[in-house]
Amino acid sequence: MGSMRTFEIAFVGLKPGVHEFDYELDAQFFKDKAPDSNDGIAANVKLSLDKNNGFMLLRFLVGGSAEVNCDRCGNQLNVDLWDEFNMVVKLTEDPQKANEEEEDADIFYIAKSESHIEISDWLYEFVMLSIPMQHICGNDKDGQSLCNEQVLKKLKAMQVNRDEQQENSIWKGLERFKNN
Ligand SMILES: [Zn+2]
Repeated sequence: MGSMRTFEIAFVGLKPGVHEFDYELDAQFFKDKAPDSNDGIAANVKLSLDKNNGFMLLRFLVGGSAEVNCDRCGNQLNVDLWDEFNMVVKLTEDPQKANEEEEDADIFYIAKSESHIEISDWLYEFVMLSIPMQHICGNDKDGQSLCNEQVLKKLKAMQVNRDEQQENSIWKGLERFKNN
């Protein structure tokens, strides 16, 4: 886990102004963060850190791709990641209290005595937030759905089957009622 050091920024040594950082996040990064997380993610995050007196502005630009399954037919899809997130990091005497009282999720406090910020949690969180919530196979150029027809047919058949079974059990229940 020594690789986690890569995600620490020693901001104390930075001059005031904007600094750029690049992060390539592979499947192992996401596995380290959450063992059951999506293992088909390859993300790159460009971070620009604007160092000011007493605070820093962090802008995370997320790119890359993730493998997901279609919500309708389960086909594997590759979706692009594309999103932007901002954080304000403020230096203060009592960061714990300030973080508890702060209602804005985009503002984070660290101690004035701090020299590093650890950003791997933000990288993880922002990449996860970049994955579209819904994913459905698109249409081809003729407007036909690209979903797997066979799977959709099977799903439909299973649904009909289930409905019939439910109906049968209702009738059985009623018959028993009649016989009594
Ligand atoms: Zn589909």
